[in-house]
Amino acid sequence: MVDTSVSFMRSLCMGVIEEQIVLPFPRVQDEQRETLRTVIESIRQLLGSKETDFAAWDRAGEMPKEFIEQLKEFGLFGLIVPEEYGGLGFKSTAYSRTLQEVAKYDASVAVTIGAHSSIGMRGLVLFGTDEQKQRFLPRLATGEMIAAFCLTEPGAGSDAAAIKTRAEKDGDDWVLTGNKLWITNGGIADFFTVFARTGDESGKVHMTAFIVTRDMEGVSVGPHEHKMGLRASSTTTLHLDSVRVPEQNVLGPLNKGFKVAMQILNNGRTGLGGGAIGGMKRLIEMSTQYANQRQTFGKPISEYGSIKLKVGQMVVNCYATEAVVDMVAMLIDQGYEEYAVEAAISKVFASEALWQAADEALQIAGGNGYMCEYPYERILRDARINRIFEGTNEILRLFIALTAMNDVGSQLQELSSTVKGIFDDPIKGFGVMRQYAMKHATLVTGYPRAKSRFTLVDPLLREHAAVFEDATRHLAAAVDRILRKHGRNIIGKQLASRRLANIMIDLFVLACVLSRVNSSLAERGAEGAQRELDILKVFANQVQRRVRHAFSLIDINDDELIKGVADYAFEQERFVWDNI
Ligand SMILES: Cc1cc2nc3c(=O)[nH]c(=O)nc-3n(C[C@H](O)[C@H](O)[C@H](O)COP(=O)(O)OP(=O)(O)OC[C@H]3O[C@@H](n4cnc5c(N)ncnc54)[C@H](O)[C@@H]3O)c2cc1C
Repeated sequence: MVDTSVSFMRSLCMGVIEEQIVLPFPRVQDEQRETLRTVIESIRQLLGSKETDFAAWDRAGEMPKEFIEQLKEFGLFGLIVPEEYGGLGFKSTAYSRTLQEVAKYDASVAVTIGAHSSIGMRGLVLFGTDEQKQRFLPRLATGEMIAAFCLTEPGAGSDAAAIKTRAEKDGDDWVLTGNKLWITNGGIADFFTVFARTGDESGKVHMTAFIVTRDMEGVSVGPHEHKMGLRASSTTTLHLDSVRVPEQNVLGPLNKGFKVAMQILNNGRTGLGGGAIGGMKRLIEMSTQYANQRQTFGKPISEYGSIKLKVGQMVVNCYATEAVVDMVAMLIDQGYEEYAVEAAISKVFASEALWQAADEALQIAGGNGYMCEYPYERILRDARINRIFEGTNEILRLFIALTAMNDVGSQLQELSSTVKGIFDDPIKGFGVMRQYAMKHATLVTGYPRAKSRFTLVDPLLREHAAVFEDATRHLAAAVDRILRKHGRNIIGKQLASRRLANIMIDLFVLACVLSRVNSSLAERGAEGAQRELDILKVFANQVQRRVRHAFSLIDINDDELIKGVADYAFEQERFVWDNI
């Protein structure tokens, strides 16, 4: 019996390896495989011949309406809508795989579909009442209505709790007033999941999610924003001028909008992850073809070690990204409740792996890579946003680390009254940590000795499993050491948190790669899985080196020095040295 309340990473920070969560490696469910194959084939047919169009739409900064109609006809707006409402009913695994396919051709198209399904209407799927679903899902499935997610405002990006859009009760309606910024699909959407401030009787400020439709009086959108990348995808402002929203359009629990927003983002992360994988697979194809045909000094550049290093790393990172994104999708599909840390890890890893791949692919193409005639620069521009939206990677790293530290703090019985709960919502919780009882912070005893090894992996993988197990032992100790070192100041010690987050990211991704290779070994045997074994070996060695380095910096580092250098720059607001 699987306990779906357990989180692999949160347990790992306590030194416990819940291997049954990540083993065996997930596969697409049988009942969705056939549909998925058909969808992938139709995506190839629809997008495969449009490279010139995508380049032109990027330059023009717009996607033609007729093309959006085609996306609707191909059913691409109904991916996650349950079948009873006319959609394909894809779970996270199949959804992520579909976005991967779309992203191989064009990121603007992937984001248009992704913003609709990953975040725009996900709140309705997750929290909607039967009546709300009945009212909107059939139209969202066909694309008659396109959805958008509206949280960000001019004064509230990462600090989402600072939104100013207000919702005030007036009779049976809510009246919404405010401005939303950078809303993906804003120009083409009819269905908006809008977050606004609501207060309770005690005067406390909360947030609530509402369904707003374009036909409501007082709803308007600004002009199409010109962006660095994803230029063909629609991004606009959304203005709400005393918009009357009926009570039946409250989405999810009243005053729990922050949790609703976070759950939508967590649940939708495999869309972004799938898109990143698609981008990387395309880049690998482009780079290998280019390097095989481009000759310098009488040889194809693919024969040079410097180029092999780039391509090899792209392949390793792509394999690892697919492993972690698929694993998170499986956690969601199997009904795990605690996957926010794992989902955040997959977003950070995927977005950075894609960025690195786009940068290296451009480098392999040399001067051609810089020319707009080739797609490299567009892919690079498109890729950049992934580290910023759906939670910046800085904020997500803090979330990952602070969740771990909260758990460890809570484990210490004597500490629990002082520490527990402060990170219930780590993003909102900055600055609220109270007195931390440093003298009690010792984790020397009390850790379970059981579940400290991978027992379900093939003996051929023992060496790599040992790398993971060794790092895990250090991880719990590291969390403790960081907490003891910084005490109640930990929230202000972002570089220490970042270090811990990086260790956690590496370890979770390694667990996923280990699991993926383990399944390949079982299916194809050692010979059939030889290349994957090599990938695992490279990745495990890299993780081992990075993690060792990160551990070594917990106590001895230049954190204060480099912050001092930055503070001086902030004071001067310029670079002061000149060697004339
Ligand atoms: C193309 C595009 C599409 C978008 N689509 C949508 C959408 O559909 N719906 C929607 O609601 N929003 C959308 N956004 C908004 C996006 O989610 C925000 O830009 C993002 O959350 C970051 O907020 P910000 O831009 O205000 O940056 P800020 O919050 O001002 O952050 C600036 C920098 O400071 C860092 N930072 C901030 N606070 C901290 C901290 N406490 N500790 C350490 N570092 C910190 C950030 O990581 C970042 O590097 C979109 C943005 C873009 C560019």
